[in-house]
Amino acid sequence: MEALQFNSKTKTVSLIKKSVPSVKEGWVLVKVAYSGVCGTDLHVFEGSFPCSDSPVVMGHEFSGTVTAVGSNVTHLKVGDRVAVDPNSGCDTCDACTGGQPHYCEIGGIYRNLGMMNDGGWAEYCLAPARQVYKLPDNITFEQGALVEPISCVSHGWDMLSPVPVGSHILIIGAGIIGNLWACILHVQGHRKVTVCEPMQDRRKIVENLGFGFQVITPDSLKKLKEKDEKFGFDVVIDCSGNGKAIEDAVWMLKCGGKLAIFGCAAPETRVSVSPYLLYKNEITIFAVKINPFSFPKALGFLESMGARYMDYEKLGVKVFSMKQHKEAFSELKKGLIAKAVFKIGG
Ligand SMILES: [Zn+2]
Ligand SMILES: [Zn+2]
Repeated sequence: MEALQFNSKTKTVSLIKKSVPSVKEGWVLVKVAYSGVCGTDLHVFEGSFPCSDSPVVMGHEFSGTVTAVGSNVTHLKVGDRVAVDPNSGCDTCDACTGGQPHYCEIGGIYRNLGMMNDGGWAEYCLAPARQVYKLPDNITFEQGALVEPISCVSHGWDMLSPVPVGSHILIIGAGIIGNLWACILHVQGHRKVTVCEPMQDRRKIVENLGFGFQVITPDSLKKLKEKDEKFGFDVVIDCSGNGKAIEDAVWMLKCGGKLAIFGCAAPETRVSVSPYLLYKNEITIFAVKINPFSFPKALGFLESMGARYMDYEKLGVKVFSMKQHKEAFSELKKGLIAKAVFKIGG
């Protein structure tokens, strides 16, 4: 089969041929249909996010069809259309048994599919059956490749909730994660939403979503705040991982405001905040890490949003073949598209 393999020593991705893995007890073989490229993958290429020392097939956001089922797997059969949760815990540590597998020091991002183990940028991927979820009939493979990013947003939504309808909400960054946040807010009735994004192409994508949200550059946003001290937001969701943007976000919050750090910043990024301002305005700042137990909720969101929201063209998602990987990474890095997805089979 063909697969895109990353070598952390040379920091290169190459299209290789390798044998189709054989199924084993408790695992299923998935014929991959669509497989997304995540912003975190770009961090892996730069060496700022953990990944396997040996060459590894990347891809942690994918949908496909089950083609072989190992022994002791009861909830799946050959032919099932599925999406795969790349993350799992070790099941034995205090974090895992305490219901926080995303804190697991040997599981979570340290043993996932697509960075630590072979993932879904391949014609076939072997996945632990308990991480494989059937797609509802009305969800396409294209939409199925978005379950993983939506599951992370859904975890963030749970941490942020309740957010009363009518709250003023700022989304920083209009990559796919910012756009998915916009969808999840809109489908639940939120209308007073502003999206801040420096890149014009990405601002256009948000406008094309047709939600009527305010779409603005960081400079214009700053000017609004400078003009009117009372201007601000109840909730800010940072999807940029940009230190400067996060610093400004704290200043943009109203009393009682909450800042969710969703974007993955580089480890060396630093921000400076005034503890006095945090005290005076009783600000909450928290971060959101991956997707514990949120795959079923993400499937629920997908079903409720359906084709009206989960449309690749509207969301700024562009489809590539695996052969076009260089193009895909470069267009994503330049911000010309919100997301790149490989169409592999299906
Ligand atoms: Zn991701
Ligand atoms: Zn664990």
